[in-house]
Formats: sequence, C-alpha cells, structure tokens
Amino acid sequence: MMTKICQAADFFAPRKDNNICVIAGPCSAETEQQVLETALNIAQYKKVKIFRAGIWKPRTSPDSFEGVGEPAFNWLRKVKKQTGLLTATEVATPEHIELCLKNKDAIDLVWTGARTAANPFSIQALADALRGTDFPVLVKNPLNPDIKLWAGAIERFQKVGIKNIGAIHRGFYPFEKINLRNVPKWELALEIKSLFPELPLINDPSHIAGKREYIFDIAQKALNLNFDGLMIETHIKPDNALSDAKQQLTPDALISLLKKLKFRKQNFEHKKYFDLLEQYRHQIDSIDFQLIELLNKRLNISKEIGKYKTDKNVSIFQLKRWLDITKTRHEFGEAIGMDKEFIKQLLQLVHKESIRLQSEIMNQNKTN
Ligand code: PEP
Ligand code: MN
Repeated sequence: MMTKICQAADFFAPRKDNNICVIAGPCSAETEQQVLETALNIAQYKKVKIFRAGIWKPRTSPDSFEGVGEPAFNWLRKVKKQTGLLTATEVATPEHIELCLKNKDAIDLVWTGARTAANPFSIQALADALRGTDFPVLVKNPLNPDIKLWAGAIERFQKVGIKNIGAIHRGFYPFEKINLRNVPKWELALEIKSLFPELPLINDPSHIAGKREYIFDIAQKALNLNFDGLMIETHIKPDNALSDAKQQLTPDALISLLKKLKFRKQNFEHKKYFDLLEQYRHQIDSIDFQLIELLNKRLNISKEIGKYKTDKNVSIFQLKRWLDITKTRHEFGEAIGMDKEFIKQLLQLVHKESIRLQSEIMNQNKTN
C-alpha cells in the first residue's frame, strides 16, 4: 500500500519567503457553534491555514473546564469540510493519540503541550503511540527553560519515524512576577532552530502574553527573528471562553492584527544590500574575536590574582572591590548609552568565571 502523503506536508516544506503559516482557533473546543463560527470567520483570511482547538485541556485545577473530549471530532470534521482549513489539537496521553488516529479524517496534526514536554516518560509514550504513522507533531517547549528537554522531546518523535515535526515556542514559567504570563526566551527558540534547522519554528504569542493587548508585539518580534509561523488563540466570544479568556482574540481582531504585522523577508533580494550586510558581519566577526581575546587576557590576570590571594591567604571575594567594579562600569556603560541590565549581566558572568578560576587555584593549594 502506498503511504498516504500527509496533507499538512506543505506546512513542513522549506518556507518560501514571507509565506508564514498561521495557526488560529480557540484554546478549547466548547460547543459546535463556537467551533464552527470561529473557524468560518478565521478562514476568511488566507494566511490562516490551520485551525487549532483543544479537545482535552491540561488545567492547573481539577475543577476547571477540562475539555469536551470525543464529540469535538465531529465539529472539527465539519470545520475541515466547510472551510478547507487543516485541524490541530493537543495530545497528552496515548489514548488521545489513538482517538486522533481513529478520527484521522477530522485531525491533521497534533501538538504536545508544555506540561507534557517536561516529562520524558509522557513524551516517549506519545512517540510510541505514533510509531509507524505519518502523523505530524508540533512540540511545545517545556515549562522549564531546559533546551535539552525540548530537543529530547523532538528527538523522541524523530526516532519513531515521524517525518513532519515542528517546534512551538510558548514561553517559560516565570519565577518572578512579570507582566507577561510566560517568559519568552528567544535565545532558546533560536537554539532549537540551530539544532533542527529543517523544522518549522512557530511562536505562540497567546500563551506568552496571557493578555490580548500584548500579543501584537510578541508576534512581531517572532517575525523579526524569522520564525516560520504563529499560533494565536482566537474565539468567537473571547470573554465567554471557558479557558484562557483574557488572551483570546476575536476573529476580526486576529485578522486586523495579522494585517498590521510586518512579514519580513528571509533574505536580501538585491546584491548591494547583501554586500552591506556582509561588511557589517565582517566587522562583528572581528570584534567578537577581539572580545574573546580581551576576556582571556582579563581572566589570565584573575588567575594571577588567585595565586597571589592563595599565597597571602586572603579570601577570593572582596565585597568592596566588587561594589566598586559594578559602580564604575555601570556609570561608564550608561554614559556611552548602553543598557544597564546588559552591563550588569555581563559583569556578573565575567565575575563568576573569575571566581571559578580563582577557586580552582585555591583548591589546588589546599595544603597552603
Ligand atoms: C494550549 O495551547 O491551549 C495550551 C494548553 O498550551 P500550553 O501547553 O502552551 O500551556
Ligand atoms: Mn490556551
């Protein structure tokens, strides 16, 4: 028997320029009417290719709405028929996968949630349930900013032979109070893209934002960073939504947001612009190597200081000196227009490495 060509395959093919794929739909499928009305309105905008709707919802409290389960397949079947959109839902257990496979005419792709990604046993069970199928999977980042856990989840699906896989950056649990619901760690998302360059990288600004007014800026940032797609929660009546009400947009708001976004080109069309970029990149390359050399010089001096402190039996950390370093460098950085937080983090990193090297030296001379 010929293997069925996955309908969603286009979505996973290399992206052509600003041909971003948008996934939109409600956090949860609640009623047939809510699902169909939302889908019909969303489908009017051609950049939206995939309709999302959670059938089973991972909720913090057992008293919250946990999804309608199987009846939603029929609603999604109707969505496909009436709009031509592809459909996607979240799976968290092998039983969810079995049901999606049984209803393959209603579901085109599945995604794994942030809570599931944190548990390799759960991801492995999902991968095993998909073994031997061609079902496409989008893998959300785990709640904790552990790149290996996210990459490991992707690899588990690759290892059972799933060809069409994507990664979704939905932000990470905030340990400090911030205005967003989850912390976007763009550097981790870009690292995932470097580890798996062939995988589409999608941004979920809704779960990062937590509030609808923040969604535009986050989505624009994702496009500026060359993400391949967006997943945006959209509900026909967001304020009545049974989950994530504050972050969902109406279909109209979704469409005006998409129209306002600047879709960036992946590369330069004209050689002259590209040449200028190359010149800038040469300058950056040269500065980076100089920076590393200078840092190495600085750390070598730290090592000498470490030997001296060991000799004189003086403790490594000198509070007065550290306060003086931070104060003078902050002032200098600010005077030339640099970001205070950046200087602070840079100094902390360099200081941490100095302390590590000096501790090594002191430990080698324990007898002293
Ligand atoms: C969702 O997409 O509705 C969802 C529950 O997402 P996450 O796993 O990112 O919290
Ligand atoms: Mn949600």
